[in-house]
Amino acid sequence: MPSPHLDQSIQSTMSDAPATATSIRNAFLSGERTAGSIIEEHLARIRQSEPAVDAFLTVTEEEALERARALDEKRSRGEEMGLLAGVPIAVKDIICTRGVRTTCASKILYNFVPPYDAHVVERLLAEDAVIIGKTNMDEFAMGSSTENSGFKITRNPWDTSRAPGGSSGGSAAAVAVGMAPLALGTDTGGSIRQPAALCGVVGLKPTYGRVSRYGVVAFASSLDQVGPITRTVEDSALLLQVIAAPDERDSTCTRREPDDYAAALAGPVKGLTFGLPREFFIEGGLDGEVAAALEEARREFERLGVRFVDVSLPHSGIDMEGGKLSSFAVACYYIICTAEASSNLARYDGVKYGHRSEGHADMIGMYSKTRGEGFGDEVKRRIMLGTYVLSSGYYDAYYLQAARVRRLIKEDFDRAFEEVDLLFGPTSPTPAFKIGEKTEDPLEMYLNDVFTIPCDLAGNCGISLPCGFTDGGLPIGMQLMATHWDEAALLRAGAAYQRETDWHLRVPDVPA
Ligand code: GLN
Repeated sequence: MPSPHLDQSIQSTMSDAPATATSIRNAFLSGERTAGSIIEEHLARIRQSEPAVDAFLTVTEEEALERARALDEKRSRGEEMGLLAGVPIAVKDIICTRGVRTTCASKILYNFVPPYDAHVVERLLAEDAVIIGKTNMDEFAMGSSTENSGFKITRNPWDTSRAPGGSSGGSAAAVAVGMAPLALGTDTGGSIRQPAALCGVVGLKPTYGRVSRYGVVAFASSLDQVGPITRTVEDSALLLQVIAAPDERDSTCTRREPDDYAAALAGPVKGLTFGLPREFFIEGGLDGEVAAALEEARREFERLGVRFVDVSLPHSGIDMEGGKLSSFAVACYYIICTAEASSNLARYDGVKYGHRSEGHADMIGMYSKTRGEGFGDEVKRRIMLGTYVLSSGYYDAYYLQAARVRRLIKEDFDRAFEEVDLLFGPTSPTPAFKIGEKTEDPLEMYLNDVFTIPCDLAGNCGISLPCGFTDGGLPIGMQLMATHWDEAALLRAGAAYQRETDWHLRVPDVPA
């Protein structure tokens, strides 16, 4: 593959990039490989790398092997096979899997075994995928580093002293290492795109309402979306095609049929216009190496015939204040998401499911002890903030005001998309940060999402693509955003970029 970027000395191997879902499926369908051998190979990769990375909360080894046997039989009977036939997939532990523990990385759900599958899991199984395990995450998806997991810390496979990003850090790390070619994550304020950027893989947040949340544990219901984390854009299209099916059990899920995403991949980008949001490129807002990689990616798109114009998203309000990033969008997000979380998390009370504390005097004591023991610090902080912003006397000043700001942010995006086909910018202001570096200061952690949160608030779709490495060997991601329902445009542009570059083919050398 021709590339101007191959000269960098990076601790990685390109020769044996793990197989993509598309190639695994083809090898299985042609009879070249059995599902059993495919699953065995990925389980071996998990056994080899898990001690250093800790991407999984549960590895469903037995179930996966059993299912692989059933798929091998199905194929040998000559039955028609699904779009993900024989392909292993890792599922974020916030997505319900029947009979398999689903904890949201919270001690309060340490023993919760769902009696049903989420809609997206039903879709995976209907298309003959093999679920290989449940991935680690920030507790209830609240965080940007996976350090808020109630059980363990996932490490960035490119440098195990660093965080993989979050909250879908386990899913992104698993794909980066080749433990699975596909993973599901969820994105409320950036939790698919940011860990994808920090782990050097592709993460797509679909339009709000594109994918059913039936069976996905709710964090902030006006924002949550499920989406694919993969190594290639082609695989992202494949997985999105499978999960983006209308579902009446989620009233926010659109009835419109998804586009043909595989067909979108071949489309040209020549003649498209990309907008550069001025606020995403303010002086001092970006790490120098991230800025340089983005500039190189922009040139690559220009070579492909894309025209760039400046646009503004004024109400995202990204700014530098006293040398630090600040953002209206982040402030607005932390009012809306905490308000919704405080309501959604009221159900964990020790009565219906999950952890229940012992040794309490009365019912109120049981509730408060259960919740006190079961939730981690960040979740408690969000419940308290959310309860505060919804309380009488503060509702108008905070919640209502945030809802208005959100509308203005959405209108900025709508205006921008009247002029441009896609928006182009960074996914995260910096490459992967050190484990422990931001845990002392929650605001510092929140600001990591300045570039992803506006897109969630506006409800449109976005993708993060690998676009370079730092001198120290850490991956860098770029973000493309499209208007509502135009995931096909993201995939078309991403596929065109991946045909010209090889950043996505690099694999971390994980210490054994
Ligand atoms: N990091 C953001 C938060 O902590 C976003 C999380 C997410 O998208 N689930 O809320």
